[in-house]
Amino acid sequence: MAESSTDGTHNALRVIEDLATIYANEQLFKHGLKGWSIAWHDQGEMAGRCSFGPKIITLNRRVLLNTAARNIRETILHEITHALVAPDVGHGQLWYEKLLEIGGTGIWVFNDGRVVCHPLEEGK
Ligand SMILES: [Zn+2]
Repeated sequence: MAESSTDGTHNALRVIEDLATIYANEQLFKHGLKGWSIAWHDQGEMAGRCSFGPKIITLNRRVLLNTAARNIRETILHEITHALVAPDVGHGQLWYEKLLEIGGTGIWVFNDGRVVCHPLEEGK
């Protein structure tokens, strides 16, 4: 029996979510972030969030399953960077240098092709 396109899309999104979770967990392990975990949700417009108390990096299905793969990777590395530096560091020089060190770019490419860079990158 042929699979309907709805099921195909659903399955593809599940595969993307699974791959992103695998990648995120590999990054947690690679950077020694013991006790941290990955969770998904469907609320709001923020792509990701790093919660230090429960040691959870949450990823937004609504945003990330509707964007380029590079943005999913960037979001995961963005939140991993928060987990690696102090909670109150924000997105300044220290945070940005750590992001680049672990392979992030500070670049977000919108679906319409617009590109947004980290302010420290734009200043170069
Ligand atoms: Zn952030």
